[in-house]
Amino acid sequence: MNVATAPRIAVFGSVNMDLVAYVATAPGSGQTVTGTEFRQVPGGKGANQAIAAARAGGDVTFLGAVGDDAFGTQLRSTLVESGIEVSGLRTEAGASGVAHIVVEGDGSNSIIVIPGANGRVATVGEHDVQRIAGSAALLLQLELPLPAVTAAARAGREVGVPTVLTPAPVQELPDELLDEVDLMVANQHEAAAIAGGSDPLRALDSLLERVPEVVITLGADGAVHGRRGADPVRVPARPVAAVDTTAAGDTFCGALAVARAEGQPAEAALRFASEAAALSVQRHGASLSMPERAEIDNARK
Ligand code: ATP
Repeated sequence: MNVATAPRIAVFGSVNMDLVAYVATAPGSGQTVTGTEFRQVPGGKGANQAIAAARAGGDVTFLGAVGDDAFGTQLRSTLVESGIEVSGLRTEAGASGVAHIVVEGDGSNSIIVIPGANGRVATVGEHDVQRIAGSAALLLQLELPLPAVTAAARAGREVGVPTVLTPAPVQELPDELLDEVDLMVANQHEAAAIAGGSDPLRALDSLLERVPEVVITLGADGAVHGRRGADPVRVPARPVAAVDTTAAGDTFCGALAVARAEGQPAEAALRFASEAAALSVQRHGASLSMPERAEIDNARK
């Protein structure tokens, strides 16, 4: 896609180094075991959504923080190499965010996130607001402190930029945040936890009482879109052989934001995002698996 016409997407969120240990069975307390493989992969929901949006054709600016350690340098380079503008990525004294992930032989995983620099983002600064202004969308998640996310959403509203919230990791959401959100993109577990109950369509209705527009992703069952006063639209997932669904939701959200910013109607934007996510689940690795724009367009022909 021509960069001159690429919609500007601002992401205010987390960036972590994922340290992934593969092992047949995770050790219990006091045990040491030998694993089979180790991978060090840039992650964090903010960075993942930023990379997904950049690959899908967005002109992305990333706002957040890394530490002044070696991981911080690597994480910054990864974003730059993905074509993302990082003048709003601060370097804070101390450690970068790290996710310590253990993947067992049966594919189950356990994760310890140490927020590091992400946890030290207290609010949005004047430079952040300047980067948000003029964007077609502001993407937020909940891996930065809630007061900072709320301040960013408020700043987005003040400068007239639509705010898209992924409510993960799921937690109690104050009205002062949700009042500033234009679109929530939640998976079915997050939607159920926030709305109560397990029926996605009921969760959709209940979430629509708090935000004007909602998308709930349903894994291999696709996604459903709702807007106050309109009938829900359901889009199926393309049946594919999934090998790794890590960050499928972030891929979906980044691509959805780009399609919406280009003015695609809700259903077309959902199909575009579903295609991006379907491509990503067929490959290993979180950000590594995210498709480029040409791949998404080709797959939809
Ligand atoms: P993750 O936490 O792994 O990032 P998520 O739980 O946030 O993902 P999901 O609802 O599992 O999000 O998936 C997001 C989207 O990815 C789905 O709406 C769908 O379009 C696509 N997707 C996920 N799993 C599959 C699959 N097995 N086959 C095809 N598409 C899939």
